[in-house]
Amino acid sequence: MIDPKESAYLKAKKIETGTVIDHVPKGMALKVLRVLGIEDDFPGTVTVLMNVPSSHYGFKDIIKIEGRLLAKKEIAKMALMAPAATVNTIQNFTVVDKYVVQVPSVLEGVVMCPNPTCITRSEGTPRLLVENASPVRLRCAYCEKVYGDKDITY
Ligand SMILES: [Zn+2]
Repeated sequence: MIDPKESAYLKAKKIETGTVIDHVPKGMALKVLRVLGIEDDFPGTVTVLMNVPSSHYGFKDIIKIEGRLLAKKEIAKMALMAPAATVNTIQNFTVVDKYVVQVPSVLEGVVMCPNPTCITRSEGTPRLLVENASPVRLRCAYCEKVYGDKDITY
């Protein structure tokens, strides 16, 4: 059952082709956009709704990105900041695909190991094991160092 107030926000602006990311934790929308590489030079319209009342989460953020679909790798990156998000692919004003984000157990080639002396900084593919999703705790499969959210550069 969707709260009528919530549904009004969802209807605020429909996009023709692109992506709607729903159930982003309150306050995380701008970080998610940064992780996706969507900045001031992005050509499409981006709508960010913050502090939207949500029946499940109290408050949430919603992001609508016109003209941009997300690759699975991008969704994996985003999963660390929005572990319960729903990624809706929109075509011709219709949701054609709905994907519930799942935090992967391994991030392969998604984020760099922060350790400057780690072997993966100079060769190979970084491989970080997700020991905990919220709060984020990652362990490098090579140097075995453990990192939190603050250590990771997305
Ligand atoms: Zn490492």
